[in-house]
Amino acid sequence: MTIGEDWLVLLPSEAQEVIENGHGWGNLTCRLSGPDRAALVVALSNEGSDRVPVVTDPGHFLMSADFHPAGHWYSVTQELVVVEYFLTRQSGSLRFEEFKRIVPRAVEPSPGKWSIAVTYCPESPEIVDGQPLPVWSAWMVSGSVVRPIALDIHNGKELLSALDGYWPIRQLSQTRVLLLGAGSIGGAVAEALASYGVGQIDAVDPDRFLFHNVPRHVLTTARVGMSKVDALAQTIGAKWPECEFVAWPIDLVVNADVVRPLLDAADIVICTVDGVEPRRVANYLARRAGKPIVLACVLGDGRYGEILRIRPLPEVGCLECQRRRLQEAGRIDLETTLDRGYGTGTRHNPMTAVGGDLHLIGQLAAKIAVATLLRRQGELDQTLVDDNLVIALRPAPEYPSPFNATRMLDQTWYPAGRPYDDCPACTPT
Ligand SMILES: [Zn+2]
Repeated sequence: MTIGEDWLVLLPSEAQEVIENGHGWGNLTCRLSGPDRAALVVALSNEGSDRVPVVTDPGHFLMSADFHPAGHWYSVTQELVVVEYFLTRQSGSLRFEEFKRIVPRAVEPSPGKWSIAVTYCPESPEIVDGQPLPVWSAWMVSGSVVRPIALDIHNGKELLSALDGYWPIRQLSQTRVLLLGAGSIGGAVAEALASYGVGQIDAVDPDRFLFHNVPRHVLTTARVGMSKVDALAQTIGAKWPECEFVAWPIDLVVNADVVRPLLDAADIVICTVDGVEPRRVANYLARRAGKPIVLACVLGDGRYGEILRIRPLPEVGCLECQRRRLQEAGRIDLETTLDRGYGTGTRHNPMTAVGGDLHLIGQLAAKIAVATLLRRQGELDQTLVDDNLVIALRPAPEYPSPFNATRMLDQTWYPAGRPYDDCPACTPT
C-alpha cells in the first residue's frame, strides 16, 4: 500500500491535548484503510513513553481497519507552517533531508516504508493574505519524499454551540421538551429538536425497535431489539452531545402518574403517538398541566400530514374540542384512521405511509414547537402562520375540507377553534 496526496488523517480532540501539552514529539498509532485512503489516530505517546489510547467513537468505520504503528507527532516552528502552505498550493513535496532540517526530530522510515506525521506549531499562527495559517498539519513521510496530506481535527467547532450568534442556541439549550411517541415521526422529531439545540428531551414510548420499523425510522438495523427511546438516546447522544436525551420506556396511558411530573417540567409537549386514545390522554394531561402541545400525525393512509398546536389559552379549544367542531360541521374525521397505524408491510397490516413523509411531518412538528418556544421568548421572526396545519403528501381532492387539496405539498393553515363549556379537558369540573 502506498500513501498519496489524497489521504486524510483524523485527529481526535484528546490526541490534540496530549500534543499541545507534550514535550515536542511522540509516537502515533493509527487505524487506516487503503481503499478509503483515511487514517484515524487511536493512540499516542509523549516522547518515548508508552502509547496511550485516545477516546474514539467505537462505531467509527476505521475502528475495524488495520493498526499502523508507524507514525509520529512533532511540535514545529512557523517555518514548516509556511512551507506547508506553499507545498499545498503547488501540490509539491520536500526531500526528507529538507524536512529533517526544519523538523530535527523527524524519524526516517525504513527503506521502502512510509509513515504519517502530524505537526503542531505552538507559536501564534503566521498570517498570509489576511488569513491565519493552520497550526496543525499532516504529512506522508518516506525516506525520499515528504508531502502534506489532509487533516481533519475534532476540536469542538462541530458542536452546536459554534452556531451562537447565528441561531438562538443559548435560549434553546435552556428548554426542555416532552416527546410522547418515538416511532417514525417521533424519531425524526427527536433528531430535529436536538439539531435545533434543545437542551433536554424526555422521550416516552414503551415499544421496542423491530425489523419492520427499519425502513421508516431514523434508527438503523444496529439498534433492532432495543427499546426505541433507549436506542434514540444512544444515537442522539453520539451525534448531539449537548442535548440531554432521557429515555422513558413506559406507556403514556398506563403510567400517566410518571408522565405528569415530566409534563410539569416541560416547556412544550410534542405528541407523535398514532392511536386515538393515547392522543386523547396526551391532550388531557397537557391541557390540565397548562402546557402547549403539538400533535403530529399522518392521516388518510398517508395522504395528509396534520400538525395541531394547542396553546394553553382560555380561547383555544383542546384536541377534543377541535375534533367535535369538525364533526358538528358535518365533516368526516380522518383521525379515526389513526388506530390502524402505519402498518408492518404484511398482508394484514399493509404499510400506508412512507418514511420520508413521516420524517417530513416530524421535522415540521419540531420546527413548529421550537418556533412556539422562541416566539414566547420574544423572537418575533418565529411567529407562525396559524395554529393548525394540514399538508398534502398525496392529495385526495375527494376528501372533506381541510383534507381536500388538489396539489402536492399544498398547505392549509387554520386557526384553533374555541373550547366547549362542557369539555372535561378545557373546563375542570
Ligand atoms: Zn377541550
